[in-house]
Amino acid sequence: MRSRHLFGRHTKADLPVAVAGEGPYLIDAEGRRYLDACGGAAVSCLGHGPNPVTEAAKDQLDRMAYAHTSFFTSEPAEELADRLIALAPQGIERVYFVSGGSEATEAAMKLARQYFLETGEPERRHIIARWQSYHGNTLGALSAGGNRWRRGQFEPLLSGAMHHIDACHYWRFAEEGEGPEEYGLRVANQLEEKILALGPETVAAFIAEPVVGATMGAVPAVPGYFQRIREICDQYGVLLILDEVMCGTGRTGTLFASEQEGIFPDMVCIAKGIGAGIQPLGAMLCSDKIFAAVEAGSGFFQHGHTYIGHPVATRAGLAVLDEFEKHDLLSNVREMGNRLMTALIGRFGNRSHVGDIRGRGLFLGLELVDNRMTKTPFDPSLNLHARIKKAAMAEGLMCYPMGGTVDGLRGDHILLAPPYTIGEEHVEEIVDKLDRALEVAF
Ligand code: PLP
Repeated sequence: MRSRHLFGRHTKADLPVAVAGEGPYLIDAEGRRYLDACGGAAVSCLGHGPNPVTEAAKDQLDRMAYAHTSFFTSEPAEELADRLIALAPQGIERVYFVSGGSEATEAAMKLARQYFLETGEPERRHIIARWQSYHGNTLGALSAGGNRWRRGQFEPLLSGAMHHIDACHYWRFAEEGEGPEEYGLRVANQLEEKILALGPETVAAFIAEPVVGATMGAVPAVPGYFQRIREICDQYGVLLILDEVMCGTGRTGTLFASEQEGIFPDMVCIAKGIGAGIQPLGAMLCSDKIFAAVEAGSGFFQHGHTYIGHPVATRAGLAVLDEFEKHDLLSNVREMGNRLMTALIGRFGNRSHVGDIRGRGLFLGLELVDNRMTKTPFDPSLNLHARIKKAAMAEGLMCYPMGGTVDGLRGDHILLAPPYTIGEEHVEEIVDKLDRALEVAF
């Protein structure tokens, strides 16, 4: 059954073999059931097992699996582009399909650079991102990402064209007595300071997650932060790229997370939820202005991957949007998200080791601290997040605990991102199982 040749990300872990799926549960070869309270990594928004999306993908496989995009376009890709644009933020008019999140953020950053080449501003070569962010694991995306642990050993390979400002995490980083809006303005203004330090004529884009996922655990920005960011980008002609790979496609209760910020980006990256874990699909969406510059100029976007615009993946993406609409799933995300948030606060809100409970929709995070008053993280050598994951799996619960790097300190958080299809009974099961897992892990 087990190969000695296969290796995954955890080379020492002895993981169960997943063999089947049923709604929000995964089932292993021993018949054990795991409630998927994190969608893997916020991917499986429709749960597991057969559903209309798997049927649509099978149907497309039977018709035509693959047609290279330098020779053909395909009906599902054309149709999905129209569907997405009809729902996309104002000003977003064009779609480039890829196979995942890292490819989407790479595409956005490369297109930003190419846009300025096409429009006669070749000096614009710098990208600004934020610390404690994650934009993917390929070298360009990793260079933009601000997770110091993930960057760690690869630093010598990372691009010097990427620069960072502070994250927007009020609970963790606000100064004594600083109000949310004052704090938001202060950290947003770091973007202006960085642009001025680099020289405005050299900056191409700013990239950020509207709700920070993997590195910080579902942390939305404070009100007004993204409005100020948009203003600064406009003032200096810098493109605003929103990375909604994790928080987008309905995860926070609106199809695009930026809808809740009241701003319009120049580019948006999505992945994860749009393929629902059933097909590897991502997309980079951009404004007509950006596309038109390339079309009128070189006419060639230099970012081809073998599987871009894949017919089976885009057909699955269409079926995902159909499911959202048919079952009004984004309403369920909002309703179950509120229930889960209330249940988490009710159960863990007064626990001495739970510092913060936050998030939007079905994208929620709990931050664990050694000392609630001082917000001091646990000693990293305790490997608390790994112990929680192990204890949760033993309880039959998948959650996504991470030991993120918080300004040189290591902090542990748990990310919850269950399927959009869950009901009240699953909310209760998540909270009960998590409670037992934390008891074992501490
Ligand atoms: N961007 C964000 C915000 C992510 O959370 C992730 C993955 O977790 C990525 C990009 C990279 O996506 P992928 O793992 O599909 O390459």
